[in-house]
Amino acid sequence: MIPISWQVLSDGWTTAPEVVVLRGGSWFRRVKFHATAFLLQHPEAGWVLFDTLYSSRFFEETSRFPGRLYRWITPVTQTAPGGIRQLLEAQGISLRDVKHVFLSHFHADHTGGLRDFPDAKIYCSRRAWEAVRHLGSWAGLRRGFLPGLLPPDLEARLRFVREGDDLLGDGSLRVVELPGHAIGQIGLRFTSSAGQPVLLAADACWLSQAYRENRPPHPVTGLLHDGPAYRATLQRLHEWHLENPDLLIVPTHCPETAARIP
Ligand SMILES: [Zn+2]
Repeated sequence: MIPISWQVLSDGWTTAPEVVVLRGGSWFRRVKFHATAFLLQHPEAGWVLFDTLYSSRFFEETSRFPGRLYRWITPVTQTAPGGIRQLLEAQGISLRDVKHVFLSHFHADHTGGLRDFPDAKIYCSRRAWEAVRHLGSWAGLRRGFLPGLLPPDLEARLRFVREGDDLLGDGSLRVVELPGHAIGQIGLRFTSSAGQPVLLAADACWLSQAYRENRPPHPVTGLLHDGPAYRATLQRLHEWHLENPDLLIVPTHCPETAARIP
């Protein structure tokens, strides 16, 4: 087993009523949603970045209509104005040294920093790309997608992956399909340098409590999701959790994930 070291990065957060993310939750208590990305280090292949946060570009794209609506619906508080660029440079990592960017799905809080990695291959599912590639600003907004965040040469650098794919060809990083929250959403499985199996589960659920208890979000979120696919994915995570309690399932926006931000 090739050990992968990993860390959580974040450049901001938004909030939502608890009931939206957990059936039976409170309408009045608000839950903080940190945007997180995961920086993985492979002993030979180097850096692999899982998602790219908001970055300053998100704020440029949402400073005018129609993108402005995105920020009205989910007001964002920035904690690192320079986004992923600032967070990596603070660790002495050159952006050009990141050769692999894994994109769980095309929502703006995951794609904001894509333009910062001109030399990276970008991994996503074909279905995720097909679902957004022709969307303009208004149609994109309804899918949480801001086309202006994508680098102009993206298509040439895309690498399509699917369930079970071996990302680097050595068994260290395996693709998991997690449809529901967004069409073609994917996650990544690996063994950490501490020997723990880890599954980066993107937005398959918002709270870890949801996969532990197999508890879907409020039906109102059915407007945003493909409900049946969402519940099937949640069920799958729940079963994996029961079969293997050592498996660390990491939903992008869960406060337990945010607690790992250095
Ligand atoms: Zn998200």
